[in-house]
Amino acid sequence: MSSDSPSSRYARQIQFAPIGAEGHDQIAGSRVAILGCGALGTVAAEILVRAGVGHVRLIDRDVVEWTNLQRQSLYVEQDATEGRSKAAAASEHLASINSSIEIEPIVADVTSSNIRAILDQADLVIDAADNFLIRFLLNDWALSTATPWVHGGCVGAAGQVRLFTGSGSPCFRCLVPEPPPASAVDTCDTAGVVGAATHLIASLQASEAIKWLSGNRSDVRETLLSVDLWSNRIRELKLNAAIAQQCPACADGNLEFLEGARAVESEAAAVLCGRDAVQINNAADGIVQLPLMAKRWAGVGRVQSTPFFVRLFPDSDHSLTLFRDGRVVVTGTSEISEARSLCDRYVGG
Ligand SMILES: [Zn+2]
Repeated sequence: MSSDSPSSRYARQIQFAPIGAEGHDQIAGSRVAILGCGALGTVAAEILVRAGVGHVRLIDRDVVEWTNLQRQSLYVEQDATEGRSKAAAASEHLASINSSIEIEPIVADVTSSNIRAILDQADLVIDAADNFLIRFLLNDWALSTATPWVHGGCVGAAGQVRLFTGSGSPCFRCLVPEPPPASAVDTCDTAGVVGAATHLIASLQASEAIKWLSGNRSDVRETLLSVDLWSNRIRELKLNAAIAQQCPACADGNLEFLEGARAVESEAAAVLCGRDAVQINNAADGIVQLPLMAKRWAGVGRVQSTPFFVRLFPDSDHSLTLFRDGRVVVTGTSEISEARSLCDRYVGG
């Protein structure tokens, strides 16, 4: 085998004794879903794609913006200029890194009604969501399917990581029993975020995933690791067994987020944090026929068409991006009423 032939791609990984040829084969036979293609998702995805995970599914509802480029690896200026959907842009860049595996982009907002279909057949999920609530839904789904997932979160210069096995205690809800009020949660839009920190956290997530997938399960960290790069603090938190015994999810089997009894879905309309934009969730029955909409819009203004969305620029101040799942993101306003009226005018009910 020549050292620069495609078959030698994984030589250094196989040479690492705990992985070896057997571990690598297990990695190659794995399916991983990456929930969110932002700062954590793009970095974790790149590591896993380079490591040769056989099937990688990339899920994200957003499009690439200029504020993403500071930390969201994989994206280039052209992705932001064209406002490409993150899942599609990331897939394309990853496919040029490793063409020997399957990469599947999904542009969607994950909810209790579609999470089973979106994460179907995943052997492991990387939590790279920008939405705190979605983790309660993911945790319920993981417990219902006994699927492991690697929680990661990062704001400012600090973040935390832990793999939850999906099989009993402890689970994410042992750690955070109830969703905190939105006003109590710092986000990257309000507190900022440092690229070095998101790369570190994503790298730790990918590392736990590789341990699990390669069969090195006893090496998976059993504590919640939390790191603050600015105050130079590293802590490990053991989950309290007494608290776990009272956990509604893993102890009592109450999967209320998955069952839809507790909503984690975006509101019907929401001002997108830190952006001059509003998202409207049109209740769509099934998939929106984007080419039909592109045709309808042809005489109205400039139209941009992709397999994942169509975008209309009705005037120089606004844009409407319609996704296949019926969501519309209106830019150029932070007023829900104005966004709704533009939506009614151009998209209809
Ligand atoms: Zn629990």
